[in-house]
Amino acid sequence: MAFCRKCGEAIDDEAVVCPYCKAPQMVRAEVSDDGGFLWGLLGFLVPVAGLVLFLAWKDSRPKTARAVGMGALVIGLIGALWFEFVLGVTLSAILHNIAFQLAHLQ
Ligand SMILES: [Zn+2]
Repeated sequence: MAFCRKCGEAIDDEAVVCPYCKAPQMVRAEVSDDGGFLWGLLGFLVPVAGLVLFLAWKDSRPKTARAVGMGALVIGLIGALWFEFVLGVTLSAILHNIAFQLAHLQ
């Protein structure tokens, strides 16, 4: 047994419209949009899924979309920094190696 959100009359759980005052009962249509930590974690662990969910939910579930998008963004930034670090170390090692060989050519 549920109660009408407008007039408070007892109505059927499955009722879409209150039979007494005709007020729409939206309980079942509401989506949960809690922007929870787990959604951020999902975006962090699976950034591609995070990006897809962000684009799919940015209008209907803005808080959750932001959480999952932030997770994907954080891992993306970490990944970009890590990539630059590895690339920088690798290039530096190669350049040092070339310089060393040039210096000892004779
Ligand atoms: Zn009602």
